[in-house]
Amino acid sequence: MVRPSPPGPPPTLRYLAEKAVGIDAECRDCRHRVVLGFEKFFGRYGDMLFPDFTQLMKCSACGS
Ligand SMILES: [Zn+2]
Repeated sequence: MVRPSPPGPPPTLRYLAEKAVGIDAECRDCRHRVVLGFEKFFGRYGDMLFPDFTQLMKCSACGS
């Protein structure tokens, strides 16, 4: 998948939710992969920048 970095500030969850149905997340340590629905996080983190949000995510397999 090609992902050009967009100009300007990083996107918020609210922005991404309009573009995609879920977050395709892969653990950097164990490669555990999960697709998260935005609706779970939207209420609390809708205005958070996506890079900041990814720091909050925790792997359910290895806890990383
Ligand atoms: Zn993991």
